[in-house]
Amino acid sequence: MDILKGIPVSPGIVIGKAFILDPEDIKIPRTTIEEADIPKEIARFEDALTRTRAQILEIQERIGREMGAEHSDIFTAHVLVLEDRMLIEEVIRDLKTKRQAVEHIFMEVLKRYGNAFSKIDDEYLRERVSDIQDVGKRVLHNLIGSERFNLANLNDEVVVFAYDLSPSDTATMHRERVVGFATDIGGRTSHTAIMARSLEIPAVVGLGDATQKVQSDDPVIVDGNHGLVIIQPDAPTLEKYIRARGRFEDFVRTLDKFKELPARTTDGHEVTLAANIELPDEIPHCISHGAQGIGLYRTEYFYMNRVDLPSEDEHFEAYRNVAEKVKPHPVIIRTLDLGGDKFLSSLEVPREMNPFLGWRAIRFCLARPDIFKVQLRAILRAAVHGKLKLMYPMISGLEELRQANQILSEAKEALRREGKEFDEHIEVGAMIEIPSAALTADVLAKESAFFSIGSNDLIQYSLAVDRVNEKIAYLYEPAHPAILKLIKNVIDAGHRNKIWVGMCGEMGGDPVLAVILLGLGLDEYSMSPVIIPEIKKVIRSISLKEAQEIALKSLELTTGAQIRSFVRERIKHILPEVLGEEG
Ligand code: PEP
Ligand code: MG
Repeated sequence: MDILKGIPVSPGIVIGKAFILDPEDIKIPRTTIEEADIPKEIARFEDALTRTRAQILEIQERIGREMGAEHSDIFTAHVLVLEDRMLIEEVIRDLKTKRQAVEHIFMEVLKRYGNAFSKIDDEYLRERVSDIQDVGKRVLHNLIGSERFNLANLNDEVVVFAYDLSPSDTATMHRERVVGFATDIGGRTSHTAIMARSLEIPAVVGLGDATQKVQSDDPVIVDGNHGLVIIQPDAPTLEKYIRARGRFEDFVRTLDKFKELPARTTDGHEVTLAANIELPDEIPHCISHGAQGIGLYRTEYFYMNRVDLPSEDEHFEAYRNVAEKVKPHPVIIRTLDLGGDKFLSSLEVPREMNPFLGWRAIRFCLARPDIFKVQLRAILRAAVHGKLKLMYPMISGLEELRQANQILSEAKEALRREGKEFDEHIEVGAMIEIPSAALTADVLAKESAFFSIGSNDLIQYSLAVDRVNEKIAYLYEPAHPAILKLIKNVIDAGHRNKIWVGMCGEMGGDPVLAVILLGLGLDEYSMSPVIIPEIKKVIRSISLKEAQEIALKSLELTTGAQIRSFVRERIKHILPEVLGEEG
Protein backbone atom coordinates (compact mmCIF):
# COMPACT_ATOMS: atom_id res chain seq x y z
CA MET A 1 0.00 0.00 0.00
CA ASP A 2 1.28 3.47 -0.92
CA ILE A 3 -0.33 6.67 0.38
CA LEU A 4 0.43 9.79 -1.64
CA LYS A 5 -0.44 13.33 -0.61
CA GLY A 6 -1.34 15.96 -3.18
CA ILE A 7 -3.68 18.92 -3.58
CA PRO A 8 -7.42 18.16 -3.29
CA VAL A 9 -9.15 19.82 -6.23
CA SER A 10 -12.50 18.13 -6.66
CA PRO A 11 -14.47 16.66 -3.76
CA GLY A 12 -15.64 13.08 -3.35
CA ILE A 13 -14.17 9.64 -2.79
CA VAL A 14 -13.71 7.12 -5.52
CA ILE A 15 -12.50 3.54 -5.34
CA GLY A 16 -11.41 2.15 -8.70
CA LYS A 17 -8.80 0.81 -11.03
CA ALA A 18 -5.80 2.79 -12.31
CA PHE A 19 -5.26 3.72 -15.93
CA ILE A 20 -1.95 5.40 -16.78
CA LEU A 21 -2.23 7.89 -19.56
CA ASP A 22 0.67 8.35 -21.89
CA PRO A 23 3.76 7.88 -19.72
CA GLU A 24 6.00 10.79 -20.83
CA ASP A 25 8.80 8.54 -22.05
CA ILE A 26 7.74 6.70 -25.11
CA LYS A 27 8.63 3.03 -24.65
CA ILE A 28 11.12 2.13 -27.36
CA PRO A 29 11.82 -1.55 -27.96
CA ARG A 30 15.52 -2.39 -28.22
CA THR A 31 15.31 -5.02 -30.93
CA THR A 32 18.40 -6.40 -32.67
CA ILE A 33 18.16 -6.65 -36.45
CA GLU A 34 19.84 -8.75 -39.16
CA GLU A 35 22.12 -7.19 -41.73
CA ALA A 36 19.55 -7.97 -44.40
CA ASP A 37 16.98 -5.84 -42.54
CA ILE A 38 19.07 -2.66 -42.68
CA PRO A 39 17.60 -1.33 -45.98
CA LYS A 40 14.11 -1.97 -44.61
CA GLU A 41 14.91 -0.03 -41.45
CA ILE A 42 16.35 2.85 -43.49
CA ALA A 43 13.19 2.88 -45.58
CA ARG A 44 11.04 2.97 -42.41
CA PHE A 45 13.10 5.85 -41.11
CA GLU A 46 12.77 7.81 -44.34
CA ASP A 47 9.07 7.13 -44.45
CA ALA A 48 8.69 8.44 -40.88
CA LEU A 49 10.68 11.58 -41.79
CA THR A 50 8.51 12.18 -44.85
CA ARG A 51 5.30 11.73 -42.89
CA THR A 52 6.52 13.99 -40.10
CA ARG A 53 7.53 16.62 -42.64
CA ALA A 54 4.09 16.51 -44.25
CA GLN A 55 2.38 16.82 -40.85
CA ILE A 56 4.52 19.80 -39.86
CA LEU A 57 4.00 21.56 -43.19
CA GLU A 58 0.27 21.08 -42.85
CA ILE A 59 0.25 22.66 -39.40
CA GLN A 60 2.53 25.43 -40.62
CA GLU A 61 0.29 26.19 -43.58
CA ARG A 62 -2.80 26.35 -41.40
CA ILE A 63 -1.22 28.58 -38.78
CA GLY A 64 0.22 30.82 -41.50
CA ARG A 65 -3.22 31.16 -43.06
CA GLU A 66 -5.05 31.81 -39.82
CA MET A 67 -2.53 33.81 -37.89
CA GLY A 68 0.08 35.21 -40.21
CA ALA A 69 3.56 34.15 -41.25
CA GLU A 70 5.31 35.35 -38.12
CA HIS A 71 3.50 32.69 -36.12
CA SER A 72 4.29 29.85 -38.43
CA ASP A 73 8.04 30.51 -38.54
CA ILE A 74 8.74 28.23 -35.63
CA PHE A 75 7.78 25.30 -37.84
CA THR A 76 10.47 26.23 -40.35
CA ALA A 77 12.98 25.42 -37.62
CA HIS A 78 11.21 22.08 -37.12
CA VAL A 79 11.42 21.24 -40.81
CA LEU A 80 15.11 22.15 -40.79
CA VAL A 81 15.74 19.60 -38.06
CA LEU A 82 14.16 16.95 -40.28
CA GLU A 83 16.36 17.94 -43.17
CA ASP A 84 19.58 17.96 -41.17
CA ARG A 85 21.90 15.69 -43.18
CA MET A 86 24.26 15.19 -40.28
CA LEU A 87 21.51 13.82 -38.09
CA ILE A 88 20.15 11.57 -40.81
CA GLU A 89 23.56 10.24 -41.73
CA GLU A 90 24.45 9.59 -38.12
CA VAL A 91 21.31 7.48 -37.74
CA ILE A 92 22.07 5.49 -40.88
CA ARG A 93 25.70 4.95 -39.85
CA ASP A 94 24.71 3.74 -36.35
CA LEU A 95 22.07 1.54 -37.86
CA LYS A 96 24.71 -0.26 -39.88
CA THR A 97 27.23 -0.59 -37.08
CA LYS A 98 24.94 -1.22 -34.10
CA ARG A 99 22.28 -3.31 -35.84
CA GLN A 100 19.34 -2.25 -33.73
CA ALA A 101 15.82 -1.22 -34.70
CA VAL A 102 15.79 2.32 -36.02
CA GLU A 103 13.54 3.70 -33.22
CA HIS A 104 16.22 2.92 -30.70
CA ILE A 105 19.07 4.25 -32.83
CA PHE A 106 17.17 7.46 -33.59
CA MET A 107 16.40 8.04 -29.93
CA GLU A 108 20.06 7.60 -28.98
CA VAL A 109 21.16 10.07 -31.67
CA LEU A 110 18.50 12.55 -30.49
CA LYS A 111 19.81 12.29 -26.94
CA ARG A 112 23.37 12.96 -28.09
CA TYR A 113 22.19 15.99 -30.07
CA GLY A 114 20.19 17.28 -27.10
CA ASN A 115 23.19 16.97 -24.77
CA ALA A 116 25.53 18.65 -27.22
CA PHE A 117 23.15 21.57 -27.86
CA SER A 118 22.37 22.18 -24.21
CA LYS A 119 26.09 22.72 -23.48
CA ILE A 120 26.52 25.36 -26.19
CA ASP A 121 27.09 28.86 -24.84
CA ASP A 122 24.53 30.48 -27.12
CA GLU A 123 20.98 31.03 -25.98
CA TYR A 124 19.49 30.78 -29.45
CA LEU A 125 21.10 27.42 -30.11
CA ARG A 126 20.28 26.13 -26.64
CA GLU A 127 16.64 26.88 -27.30
CA ARG A 128 16.80 24.67 -30.40
CA VAL A 129 16.97 21.67 -28.03
CA SER A 130 13.22 21.87 -27.55
CA ASP A 131 12.67 22.01 -31.34
CA ILE A 132 14.79 18.89 -31.74
CA GLN A 133 12.88 17.14 -28.97
CA ASP A 134 9.49 18.15 -30.37
CA VAL A 135 10.32 16.95 -33.82
CA GLY A 136 12.02 13.84 -32.45
CA LYS A 137 8.84 12.87 -30.59
CA ARG A 138 6.78 13.23 -33.75
CA VAL A 139 9.20 11.05 -35.69
CA LEU A 140 9.16 8.42 -32.94
CA HIS A 141 5.36 8.43 -32.87
CA ASN A 142 5.35 7.93 -36.62
CA LEU A 143 7.90 5.12 -36.33
CA ILE A 144 6.11 3.17 -33.64
CA GLY A 145 2.68 4.17 -34.87
CA SER A 146 1.44 5.39 -31.50
CA GLU A 147 -0.51 8.48 -30.67
CA ARG A 148 -1.52 9.94 -27.33
CA PHE A 149 -4.41 7.83 -26.12
CA ASN A 150 -7.70 9.61 -26.51
CA LEU A 151 -9.62 9.65 -23.23
CA ALA A 152 -12.87 9.63 -25.17
CA ASN A 153 -12.19 6.01 -26.16
CA LEU A 154 -12.15 4.22 -22.80
CA ASN A 155 -14.01 0.94 -22.43
CA ASP A 156 -13.97 0.51 -18.66
CA GLU A 157 -14.46 2.73 -15.65
CA VAL A 158 -11.04 3.97 -14.61
CA VAL A 159 -9.14 6.39 -12.43
CA VAL A 160 -6.83 8.23 -14.81
CA PHE A 161 -3.24 8.81 -13.68
CA ALA A 162 -1.20 11.23 -15.76
CA TYR A 163 1.88 13.39 -15.39
CA ASP A 164 -0.41 16.24 -16.44
CA LEU A 165 -3.74 16.59 -18.22
CA SER A 166 -4.34 19.51 -20.49
CA PRO A 167 -7.68 21.31 -20.34
CA SER A 168 -8.38 19.91 -23.81
CA ASP A 169 -7.76 16.35 -22.54
CA THR A 170 -10.25 16.94 -19.75
CA ALA A 171 -12.78 18.45 -22.12
CA THR A 172 -12.83 15.32 -24.29
CA MET A 173 -12.68 12.85 -21.42
CA HIS A 174 -15.34 10.14 -21.41
CA ARG A 175 -17.70 11.43 -18.72
CA GLU A 176 -19.00 8.06 -17.50
CA ARG A 177 -15.79 6.05 -17.71
CA VAL A 178 -13.37 8.43 -16.01
CA VAL A 179 -14.45 8.20 -12.37
CA GLY A 180 -11.48 10.00 -10.83
CA PHE A 181 -8.12 11.39 -11.66
CA ALA A 182 -4.70 11.98 -10.21
CA THR A 183 -1.85 13.98 -11.72
CA ASP A 184 1.80 14.48 -10.83
CA ILE A 185 1.75 18.24 -11.35
CA GLY A 186 -0.82 21.07 -11.24
CA GLY A 187 -2.48 23.39 -8.74
CA ARG A 188 -5.95 24.02 -7.35
CA THR A 189 -6.90 26.65 -9.88
CA SER A 190 -5.33 25.05 -12.95
CA HIS A 191 -7.98 24.65 -15.61
CA THR A 192 -7.74 20.89 -15.44
CA ALA A 193 -8.67 21.04 -11.76
CA ILE A 194 -11.54 23.44 -12.46
CA MET A 195 -12.80 21.10 -15.15
CA ALA A 196 -12.75 18.15 -12.71
CA ARG A 197 -15.01 20.08 -10.35
CA SER A 198 -17.35 20.97 -13.18
CA LEU A 199 -17.60 17.34 -14.18
CA GLU A 200 -17.95 16.31 -10.50
CA ILE A 201 -15.08 13.87 -10.78
CA PRO A 202 -13.06 13.46 -7.55
CA ALA A 203 -9.50 14.54 -8.29
CA VAL A 204 -6.13 15.15 -6.68
CA VAL A 205 -3.26 16.97 -8.43
CA GLY A 206 0.33 17.87 -7.58
CA LEU A 207 1.14 14.34 -6.36
CA GLY A 208 4.78 14.44 -7.45
CA ASP A 209 5.51 10.98 -8.75
CA ALA A 210 2.18 9.12 -8.69
CA THR A 211 2.60 7.91 -12.26
CA GLN A 212 5.89 6.26 -11.28
CA LYS A 213 4.40 4.51 -8.26
CA VAL A 214 1.20 3.16 -9.77
CA GLN A 215 0.84 0.32 -12.26
CA SER A 216 -1.99 -0.02 -14.74
CA ASP A 217 -4.99 -1.83 -13.23
CA ASP A 218 -3.80 -1.33 -9.63
CA PRO A 219 -6.72 -0.90 -7.23
CA VAL A 220 -6.66 2.74 -6.06
CA ILE A 221 -8.57 5.20 -3.89
CA VAL A 222 -8.80 8.91 -4.70
CA ASP A 223 -9.86 11.02 -1.74
CA GLY A 224 -10.67 14.36 -3.36
CA ASN A 225 -11.69 15.83 0.01
CA HIS A 226 -8.28 15.50 1.65
CA GLY A 227 -5.96 15.25 -1.35
CA LEU A 228 -4.94 11.63 -0.81
CA VAL A 229 -4.34 8.87 -3.31
CA ILE A 230 -3.90 5.34 -2.02
CA ILE A 231 -2.39 2.71 -4.28
CA GLN A 232 -3.18 -0.96 -3.54
CA PRO A 233 -5.05 -0.23 -0.29
CA ASP A 234 -5.06 -3.00 2.35
CA ALA A 235 -8.39 -4.43 3.54
CA PRO A 236 -8.89 -2.18 6.63
CA THR A 237 -8.10 0.96 4.56
CA LEU A 238 -10.52 -0.11 1.88
CA GLU A 239 -13.26 -0.64 4.47
CA LYS A 240 -12.53 2.72 6.09
CA TYR A 241 -12.93 4.42 2.71
CA ILE A 242 -16.11 2.58 1.83
CA ARG A 243 -17.56 4.01 5.06
CA ALA A 244 -16.14 7.49 4.37
CA ARG A 245 -17.64 7.45 0.90
CA GLY A 246 -21.06 6.63 2.38
CA ARG A 247 -20.80 9.48 4.91
CA PHE A 248 -19.78 11.94 2.20
CA GLU A 249 -22.69 10.91 0.00
CA ASP A 250 -25.07 11.39 2.96
CA PHE A 251 -23.66 14.87 3.54
CA VAL A 252 -24.15 15.82 -0.11
CA ARG A 253 -27.77 14.57 0.12
CA THR A 254 -28.45 16.75 3.17
CA LEU A 255 -27.49 19.78 1.09
CA ASP A 256 -30.17 18.93 -1.43
CA LYS A 257 -32.83 20.88 0.40
CA PHE A 258 -30.95 24.15 -0.14
CA LYS A 259 -31.31 23.93 -3.90
CA GLU A 260 -34.60 25.73 -4.20
CA LEU A 261 -34.05 28.27 -1.43
CA PRO A 262 -32.75 31.81 -1.96
CA ALA A 263 -29.19 32.68 -0.87
CA ARG A 264 -30.46 34.98 1.88
CA THR A 265 -28.79 35.76 5.19
CA THR A 266 -30.70 35.44 8.48
CA ASP A 267 -31.22 39.22 8.45
CA GLY A 268 -32.67 39.25 4.93
CA HIS A 269 -29.71 40.27 2.73
CA GLU A 270 -29.77 38.40 -0.58
CA VAL A 271 -26.89 37.55 -2.90
CA THR A 272 -26.82 35.70 -6.22
CA LEU A 273 -25.23 32.26 -6.52
CA ALA A 274 -24.44 31.44 -10.13
CA ALA A 275 -22.42 28.70 -11.81
CA ASN A 276 -19.32 28.57 -13.96
CA ILE A 277 -19.34 26.44 -17.08
CA GLU A 278 -16.81 25.42 -19.67
CA LEU A 279 -19.16 23.54 -21.99
CA PRO A 280 -22.90 23.96 -22.61
CA ASP A 281 -23.64 20.36 -21.62
CA GLU A 282 -22.88 21.27 -17.99
CA ILE A 283 -26.07 23.36 -17.78
CA PRO A 284 -28.32 20.61 -16.41
CA HIS A 285 -25.84 20.24 -13.47
CA CYS A 286 -26.03 23.95 -12.82
CA ILE A 287 -29.80 23.94 -12.76
CA SER A 288 -29.98 20.83 -10.58
CA HIS A 289 -27.67 22.44 -8.01
CA GLY A 290 -29.83 25.55 -7.86
CA ALA A 291 -27.66 28.04 -9.77
CA GLN A 292 -29.33 31.37 -10.48
CA GLY A 293 -27.70 31.74 -13.85
CA ILE A 294 -24.24 31.37 -15.33
CA GLY A 295 -21.74 33.84 -13.93
CA LEU A 296 -18.90 32.70 -16.17
CA TYR A 297 -19.05 30.83 -19.43
CA ARG A 298 -15.42 30.06 -20.38
CA THR A 299 -15.88 30.16 -24.13
CA GLU A 300 -12.30 29.22 -25.01
CA TYR A 301 -13.27 25.56 -24.65
CA PHE A 302 -15.39 26.07 -27.70
CA TYR A 303 -12.21 26.66 -29.68
CA MET A 304 -10.45 23.55 -28.33
CA ASN A 305 -10.03 20.13 -29.88
CA ARG A 306 -10.74 21.28 -33.39
CA VAL A 307 -8.51 22.15 -36.30
CA ASP A 308 -10.32 25.27 -37.47
CA LEU A 309 -11.81 28.31 -35.79
CA PRO A 310 -15.55 28.23 -35.02
CA SER A 311 -17.66 30.22 -37.48
CA GLU A 312 -19.98 33.03 -36.38
CA ASP A 313 -22.97 30.76 -36.84
CA GLU A 314 -21.46 28.01 -34.71
CA HIS A 315 -20.79 30.53 -31.95
CA PHE A 316 -24.29 31.91 -32.34
CA GLU A 317 -25.97 28.49 -32.08
CA ALA A 318 -23.98 27.61 -28.94
CA TYR A 319 -24.74 30.90 -27.19
CA ARG A 320 -28.39 30.93 -28.20
CA ASN A 321 -28.77 27.42 -26.88
CA VAL A 322 -27.25 28.39 -23.52
CA ALA A 323 -29.28 31.60 -23.33
CA GLU A 324 -32.53 29.74 -23.97
CA LYS A 325 -31.82 26.97 -21.47
CA VAL A 326 -30.87 29.32 -18.65
CA LYS A 327 -33.58 31.94 -19.28
CA PRO A 328 -34.93 33.87 -17.31
CA HIS A 329 -31.61 33.80 -15.47
CA PRO A 330 -28.65 35.60 -16.98
CA VAL A 331 -25.60 34.07 -18.67
CA ILE A 332 -22.33 35.98 -18.61
CA ILE A 333 -20.28 35.08 -21.63
CA ARG A 334 -16.60 35.70 -21.24
CA THR A 335 -14.86 36.44 -24.50
CA LEU A 336 -11.97 34.26 -25.62
CA ASP A 337 -9.44 33.82 -22.81
CA LEU A 338 -6.74 31.97 -24.63
CA GLY A 339 -3.30 31.41 -23.13
CA GLY A 340 -1.87 30.73 -19.68
CA ASP A 341 -2.56 27.01 -19.40
CA LYS A 342 -5.19 26.99 -22.15
CA PHE A 343 -3.88 26.41 -25.63
CA LEU A 344 -6.09 26.01 -28.62
CA SER A 345 -5.42 23.50 -31.32
CA SER A 346 -6.63 25.87 -34.03
CA LEU A 347 -4.51 28.79 -32.85
CA GLU A 348 -1.04 27.51 -32.20
CA VAL A 349 0.26 30.72 -30.75
CA PRO A 350 4.04 30.38 -30.36
CA ARG A 351 5.25 29.19 -26.99
CA GLU A 352 6.33 31.94 -24.67
CA MET A 353 8.68 32.04 -21.70
CA ASN A 354 5.92 33.32 -19.39
CA PRO A 355 2.62 32.24 -20.88
CA PHE A 356 0.51 33.66 -18.03
CA LEU A 357 2.06 37.07 -18.59
CA GLY A 358 2.13 36.90 -22.34
CA TRP A 359 0.22 37.55 -25.50
CA ARG A 360 -3.12 36.17 -24.42
CA ALA A 361 -6.81 36.77 -23.66
CA ILE A 362 -7.94 40.35 -24.42
CA ARG A 363 -4.42 41.21 -25.63
CA PHE A 364 -4.71 38.58 -28.32
CA CYS A 365 -8.27 39.62 -29.20
CA LEU A 366 -7.33 43.28 -29.55
CA ALA A 367 -4.48 42.31 -31.85
CA ARG A 368 -6.75 40.08 -33.91
CA PRO A 369 -10.05 41.99 -34.26
CA ASP A 370 -10.94 39.72 -37.18
CA ILE A 371 -11.14 36.74 -34.80
CA PHE A 372 -12.59 38.80 -31.92
CA LYS A 373 -15.40 40.28 -33.99
CA VAL A 374 -16.68 36.88 -35.05
CA GLN A 375 -17.34 36.06 -31.40
CA LEU A 376 -18.71 39.48 -30.49
CA ARG A 377 -21.18 39.45 -33.37
CA ALA A 378 -22.43 36.03 -32.34
CA ILE A 379 -22.88 37.10 -28.70
CA LEU A 380 -24.74 40.26 -29.74
CA ARG A 381 -27.06 38.27 -31.98
CA ALA A 382 -27.67 35.46 -29.50
CA ALA A 383 -28.50 37.98 -26.75
CA VAL A 384 -31.89 38.49 -28.39
CA HIS A 385 -32.82 34.94 -27.29
CA GLY A 386 -32.24 35.25 -23.57
CA LYS A 387 -30.44 37.33 -20.98
CA LEU A 388 -26.84 37.43 -22.14
CA LYS A 389 -24.16 39.72 -20.76
CA LEU A 390 -20.59 39.83 -21.88
CA MET A 391 -17.31 40.39 -20.12
CA TYR A 392 -13.70 40.81 -21.13
CA PRO A 393 -10.92 38.82 -19.47
CA MET A 394 -7.54 40.19 -18.37
CA ILE A 395 -8.32 43.89 -18.54
CA SER A 396 -5.24 45.67 -17.20
CA GLY A 397 -6.38 49.27 -17.57
CA LEU A 398 -8.74 51.76 -19.13
CA GLU A 399 -7.16 51.81 -22.61
CA GLU A 400 -7.78 48.11 -23.09
CA LEU A 401 -11.36 48.39 -21.90
CA ARG A 402 -11.96 51.24 -24.32
CA GLN A 403 -10.30 49.44 -27.22
CA ALA A 404 -12.42 46.35 -26.61
CA ASN A 405 -15.55 48.50 -26.46
CA GLN A 406 -14.53 50.22 -29.68
CA ILE A 407 -14.35 46.86 -31.45
CA LEU A 408 -17.72 45.96 -29.93
CA SER A 409 -19.20 49.20 -31.33
CA GLU A 410 -17.81 48.35 -34.76
CA ALA A 411 -19.38 44.91 -34.56
CA LYS A 412 -22.73 46.48 -33.63
CA GLU A 413 -22.43 49.00 -36.44
CA ALA A 414 -21.78 46.23 -38.97
CA LEU A 415 -24.79 44.23 -37.74
CA ARG A 416 -26.94 47.33 -37.97
CA ARG A 417 -25.79 47.92 -41.57
CA GLU A 418 -26.54 44.31 -42.42
CA GLY A 419 -29.99 44.61 -40.85
CA LYS A 420 -29.33 41.71 -38.43
CA GLU A 421 -31.22 41.46 -35.18
CA PHE A 422 -29.08 41.95 -32.05
CA ASP A 423 -29.20 43.29 -28.50
CA GLU A 424 -28.18 46.93 -28.70
CA HIS A 425 -28.06 47.30 -24.89
CA ILE A 426 -26.18 44.20 -23.84
CA GLU A 427 -24.47 44.74 -20.47
CA VAL A 428 -20.70 44.72 -20.73
CA GLY A 429 -18.53 44.02 -17.71
CA ALA A 430 -14.85 43.74 -16.96
CA MET A 431 -13.09 40.92 -15.21
CA ILE A 432 -10.90 42.24 -12.46
CA GLU A 433 -8.05 39.78 -12.30
CA ILE A 434 -4.92 41.88 -12.70
CA PRO A 435 -3.71 43.94 -9.72
CA SER A 436 -3.50 47.10 -11.86
CA ALA A 437 -7.22 46.75 -12.63
CA ALA A 438 -8.06 46.11 -8.97
CA LEU A 439 -6.17 49.23 -7.94
CA THR A 440 -7.82 51.41 -10.60
CA ALA A 441 -11.27 49.89 -10.20
CA ASP A 442 -12.74 53.35 -9.59
CA VAL A 443 -11.77 54.39 -13.11
CA LEU A 444 -12.89 51.15 -14.77
CA ALA A 445 -16.22 51.14 -12.92
CA LYS A 446 -17.27 54.34 -14.69
CA GLU A 447 -17.20 52.51 -18.02
CA SER A 448 -18.39 49.04 -16.98
CA ALA A 449 -21.86 47.67 -16.29
CA PHE A 450 -20.48 45.25 -13.69
CA PHE A 451 -17.30 43.72 -12.35
CA SER A 452 -16.49 40.07 -11.94
CA ILE A 453 -13.41 39.40 -9.85
CA GLY A 454 -11.25 36.64 -11.32
CA SER A 455 -9.62 35.63 -8.06
CA ASN A 456 -7.71 32.73 -9.63
CA ASP A 457 -5.59 35.08 -11.64
CA LEU A 458 -5.77 38.04 -9.27
CA ILE A 459 -4.10 35.89 -6.60
CA GLN A 460 -1.46 34.49 -8.93
CA TYR A 461 -0.51 37.92 -10.20
CA SER A 462 -0.64 39.68 -6.82
CA LEU A 463 1.34 37.06 -4.93
CA ALA A 464 3.56 36.13 -7.91
CA VAL A 465 2.56 32.47 -7.55
CA ASP A 466 2.04 30.48 -10.74
CA ARG A 467 -1.41 28.95 -10.24
CA VAL A 468 -0.49 25.65 -11.87
CA ASN A 469 2.81 25.03 -10.09
CA GLU A 470 2.40 22.52 -7.24
CA LYS A 471 5.80 23.38 -5.76
CA ILE A 472 4.67 26.82 -4.70
CA ALA A 473 1.04 25.94 -4.05
CA TYR A 474 1.66 26.58 -0.33
CA LEU A 475 2.06 30.28 -1.17
CA TYR A 476 -1.21 30.49 -3.09
CA GLU A 477 -3.26 32.01 -0.25
CA PRO A 478 -6.59 33.64 -1.09
CA ALA A 479 -6.89 34.81 2.52
CA HIS A 480 -3.62 36.79 2.27
CA PRO A 481 -4.27 40.27 3.70
CA ALA A 482 -3.09 41.82 0.40
CA ILE A 483 -5.77 39.93 -1.50
CA LEU A 484 -8.53 40.91 0.92
CA LYS A 485 -7.48 44.56 0.65
CA LEU A 486 -7.52 44.44 -3.15
CA ILE A 487 -10.95 42.80 -3.18
CA LYS A 488 -12.32 45.33 -0.72
CA ASN A 489 -11.06 48.09 -3.00
CA VAL A 490 -12.81 46.56 -6.02
CA ILE A 491 -16.13 46.04 -4.23
CA ASP A 492 -16.12 49.53 -2.70
CA ALA A 493 -15.21 51.13 -6.05
CA GLY A 494 -17.98 49.22 -7.79
CA HIS A 495 -20.56 50.25 -5.21
CA ARG A 496 -19.46 53.87 -5.18
CA ASN A 497 -20.11 53.86 -8.91
CA LYS A 498 -23.45 52.02 -8.54
CA ILE A 499 -22.46 48.80 -10.29
CA TRP A 500 -22.68 45.29 -8.90
CA VAL A 501 -19.58 43.25 -8.15
CA GLY A 502 -19.32 39.48 -8.48
CA MET A 503 -16.57 36.91 -8.22
CA CYS A 504 -16.13 34.04 -10.64
CA GLY A 505 -12.82 32.70 -9.31
CA GLU A 506 -12.59 29.65 -7.08
CA MET A 507 -12.19 31.74 -3.93
CA GLY A 508 -15.94 32.33 -3.69
CA GLY A 509 -16.52 28.57 -3.39
CA ASP A 510 -14.52 28.22 -0.16
CA PRO A 511 -16.93 28.51 2.82
CA VAL A 512 -14.45 30.38 5.02
CA LEU A 513 -13.65 32.93 2.33
CA ALA A 514 -17.28 33.17 1.21
CA VAL A 515 -18.18 34.60 4.63
CA ILE A 516 -15.48 37.26 4.38
CA LEU A 517 -16.65 38.14 0.85
CA LEU A 518 -20.22 38.41 2.11
CA GLY A 519 -19.07 40.80 4.79
CA LEU A 520 -17.11 42.84 2.24
CA GLY A 521 -20.33 43.28 0.26
CA LEU A 522 -19.91 40.92 -2.71
CA ASP A 523 -23.17 40.84 -4.70
CA GLU A 524 -22.74 37.74 -6.82
CA TYR A 525 -20.75 34.52 -6.47
CA SER A 526 -20.16 32.24 -9.42
CA MET A 527 -18.57 28.84 -8.86
CA SER A 528 -18.44 25.17 -9.81
CA PRO A 529 -22.08 24.07 -9.54
CA VAL A 530 -21.30 21.22 -7.14
CA ILE A 531 -20.27 23.71 -4.42
CA ILE A 532 -23.34 25.95 -4.63
CA PRO A 533 -25.51 24.12 -2.05
CA GLU A 534 -22.71 24.19 0.55
CA ILE A 535 -22.13 27.93 0.12
CA LYS A 536 -25.85 28.55 0.20
CA LYS A 537 -26.08 26.75 3.51
CA VAL A 538 -23.35 28.99 4.93
CA ILE A 539 -25.00 32.18 3.69
CA ARG A 540 -28.41 31.14 5.02
CA SER A 541 -26.92 30.38 8.43
CA ILE A 542 -25.32 33.73 9.15
CA SER A 543 -26.43 37.37 9.34
CA LEU A 544 -24.95 40.06 7.14
CA LYS A 545 -24.10 41.94 10.33
CA GLU A 546 -22.03 39.05 11.67
CA ALA A 547 -20.30 38.56 8.29
CA GLN A 548 -19.42 42.26 8.21
CA GLU A 549 -17.97 42.06 11.68
CA ILE A 550 -15.95 38.95 10.66
CA ALA A 551 -14.67 40.70 7.51
CA LEU A 552 -13.69 43.80 9.47
CA LYS A 553 -11.79 41.78 12.05
CA SER A 554 -10.13 39.73 9.26
CA LEU A 555 -8.79 42.90 7.69
CA GLU A 556 -7.04 43.72 10.96
CA LEU A 557 -5.23 40.36 11.12
CA THR A 558 -1.81 40.04 9.60
CA THR A 559 -1.47 36.64 7.93
CA GLY A 560 -3.62 34.36 5.80
CA ALA A 561 -3.29 31.55 8.34
CA GLN A 562 -4.54 33.78 11.18
CA ILE A 563 -7.46 34.94 9.10
CA ARG A 564 -8.44 31.43 8.11
CA SER A 565 -8.34 30.01 11.60
CA PHE A 566 -10.25 32.97 13.03
CA VAL A 567 -13.09 32.65 10.49
CA ARG A 568 -13.09 28.86 10.66
CA GLU A 569 -13.63 28.99 14.43
CA ARG A 570 -16.51 31.42 13.95
CA ILE A 571 -18.38 29.33 11.38
CA LYS A 572 -17.39 25.73 11.95
CA HIS A 573 -20.71 24.94 13.66
CA ILE A 574 -22.43 25.67 10.31
CA LEU A 575 -20.53 23.03 8.34
CA PRO A 576 -18.99 20.60 10.84
CA GLU A 577 -18.60 17.96 8.11
CA VAL A 578 -16.26 20.24 6.19
CA LEU A 579 -14.79 22.57 8.80
CA GLY A 580 -14.84 20.48 11.99
CA GLU A 581 -11.86 18.46 13.32
CA GLU A 582 -13.02 15.44 11.34
CA GLY A 583 -13.48 17.48 8.18
C1 PEP B 1 -10.11 33.72 -12.71
O1 PEP B 1 -8.99 34.03 -13.15
O2 PEP B 1 -10.41 33.78 -11.52
C2 PEP B 1 -11.16 33.21 -13.61
C3 PEP B 1 -12.39 33.03 -13.18
O3 PEP B 1 -10.83 32.91 -14.89
P1 PEP B 1 -9.95 31.65 -15.30
O4 PEP B 1 -9.90 30.70 -14.13
O5 PEP B 1 -10.58 31.02 -16.48
O6 PEP B 1 -8.61 32.26 -15.58
MG1 MG C 1 -8.62 34.34 -15.25
